Parts: sequence; structure tokens; C-alpha cells
Amino acid sequence: MSVLCDSLCTIQQTDRGFHDPDSFSPGTANLDLIRACVAELEARRNRGQTYEIYKVKSHVPSTPQEHVYVDELAKEATSLPTPVDHLRLLSPSWCILHHGLPVTDSDLSKTLLELHVAKVSSDLPSFLKPLTAAHVEHKWTRQLSESTKLRPSLREMLCRFKFGALKNKPKHTWTTQGGHSEHTCPRCKHRITGADTAHLNGAQWVDHILHYCTVPAIQHLRDRIQDHCDNWSGSADIDVRVQSVSEVLPLPAYQLPPDELLLDLRGFLLRTVRRQGGEFDFLPDDLAALFTKFNSELIQLDRCLDITLDPNHIVGAPSHA
Ligand SMILES: [Zn+2]
Repeated sequence: MSVLCDSLCTIQQTDRGFHDPDSFSPGTANLDLIRACVAELEARRNRGQTYEIYKVKSHVPSTPQEHVYVDELAKEATSLPTPVDHLRLLSPSWCILHHGLPVTDSDLSKTLLELHVAKVSSDLPSFLKPLTAAHVEHKWTRQLSESTKLRPSLREMLCRFKFGALKNKPKHTWTTQGGHSEHTCPRCKHRITGADTAHLNGAQWVDHILHYCTVPAIQHLRDRIQDHCDNWSGSADIDVRVQSVSEVLPLPAYQLPPDELLLDLRGFLLRTVRRQGGEFDFLPDDLAALFTKFNSELIQLDRCLDITLDPNHIVGAPSHA
């Protein structure tokens, strides 16, 4: 039997379940599922069947078709009615569901705090959401942004990026066509996503320039940063993708890519980073060291935020921290 799995964590946990089933702590996430996987594979092994597990990537063009199909089946299964004898199938236990998902295995006060924060942050304007979002690993984000590995000028820049504190952001970008209003980027002429009120906030402009703007000179800087990340991830054995956290904030927690390190250029990190750091042996300071590798590109992106300057004159010109 061949098993295709997109989660390195699941593969490793299942392997651990085989070799040392008593090594899990009671609060281990999805322990019931890990044990069920181990039991199923053991039962098949006892019937003389062998199996091999292959790590695949999900949601990319190279994802095997059978993996996509099983993903669809799993999604459909979530809407099936509960079996009539489901209580017999479960061992006595309890868990808290939030939007239909178990939010934590053991820590009630942490769950309540998370729900409280989620409620408060739901009232915040959209450009401040990353600062409180449950998907963001706030401690690591702070440790990265305040790391002594960063030059003071880069620490200051990451702080400004997070809050959109900058001079000379574009004015008059709010346009109405056919009864529909939106902000249009004066550089690339595309819609500035997430900006849905007449006032364009600096944080929205930063997010657009750093992660979305399609002006070739700016895209070139982003590509160079991605190259630095690819070089770094080659040694750390984990994929790093430069992407805005704004894109994943609306997703349910289970859709956060477990084996991909998402790097928002404002320094925001996702909560999956903690486990990835443990698994691939890196700390916030190591990510700060990665940021210093593309310090020069960030300085140029920072200058591209100033609408009075021309990206074609900024990019490639010598920059000084
Ligand atoms: Zn643009």
C-alpha cells in the first residue's frame, strides 16, 4: 500500500506512535487520530500487508490527483451526519469546539482567552487584524522584530511596516465605477485588496507594495528576497514562501500549511512556526538573520512606499542603511 501524506508532522508522529507509543504527552494535538492511524497500519501489517509513506505537497500544480481527490472526499465527510452509535465509538473525554473545530485539547483558560481576543479583534479595522489574529504567533513575531541580529534601522523599519507609519502614501486612489468603489494602486493599477473604506491606511499600502504590487521593479525585489529564502530553506530543509498573512487570516486553522514557513515581509509569523522551529531547528533569531540577508531589498521596498519616488530609479541603485 502507498500512503500519500502532505503533513511531515503526521508522518513523524505516526512513526513515533509505532516505535514509542508511550512517549506522547496527554495534550498532544490529534493524539486520537495518530493512534487510529497507527492501529490501522498495524492491523494491516498483521495481515501481511506492507506500506510506504510518501510526502507530497498539497494545493500546488504537482499535487498527485489521488491526493486532491481524497482531500475533496475528506471535505465532504465533514458534512456527513454522525453515526447513530458514535457515543460507543468514543472514549469518555471532552473538548471545546469553535466553529466546529476543536480549538485546544487541554487548556480551558487559554481557549477562553483566545475566544475573547478573537471577539475583540473582530471589531478592529481590517488593517490592524494581523496584530491580534489568532493565526499569528505573536511572541515569535515580536522576538523576530526585536532581535539584536537585526540592525537598529531594520528593527525600526519592521515596526513602521506593521503599523503603516510612513510618509507620502498615495492620495486620491478611491475610485467609483458602476456603483462599485475601490482603491486602485497608482503604480500597478490593480485593486488594493482589503482597503474598503475611502481612507487608505498606511498599513494597507505597505501590505500592497510588499506583497502584491506587480510593477516589474518591485516584483524583482520580491523575487530576490524569495531567492534568499530559498537559499536559506535549502539548509533548513523547509519551504519558505514570501506571502502576506492577510491572505491566510480568513482561513480555518486546519488550512494553514503545516510544512511551509510563511514569511510576511512586515515580520509577521504564523502560529505553525513554533512547531516548525522545533522540527527544523530554528529560532526567531535565525529568522532575523534571514531578514538581514535581504536588508538591502527591504530598504529599497521601503523607499518604493514613498509615492513621490520612482521604483525604476530606486531598484538597483546603491542603498545605505
Ligand atoms: Zn501596485
